[in-house]
Amino acid sequence: MRDLEHAQTTADRAYTQDRSVWIGEWHTHPSSRPVPSAQDTATYRQLLDDPELAFHSFIAVILSPRTSHWHMTAWACRNDVITRVPVHTLPEQVGYQ
Ligand SMILES: [Zn+2]
Repeated sequence: MRDLEHAQTTADRAYTQDRSVWIGEWHTHPSSRPVPSAQDTATYRQLLDDPELAFHSFIAVILSPRTSHWHMTAWACRNDVITRVPVHTLPEQVGYQ
């Protein structure tokens, strides 16, 4: 469940501090591939259809563990289309600590 008031307060604070803008969200798939599940797809559709949120699109990032690192994928969600988008990171940015 999304607490819209809390999310908006956090987004406003981040924007005030360094002009960060909320473009999406991330979650993990601890035991499956980092691709949107049926539940993820349903959630994305709900978010895009929520008039209070007024999203026209957003980015969803999914991480899943590998032996020595996290595998990360990113997805652009717009209308009823989810498209994988490239992720550019340095290996040490996604490694275990
Ligand atoms: Zn998921």
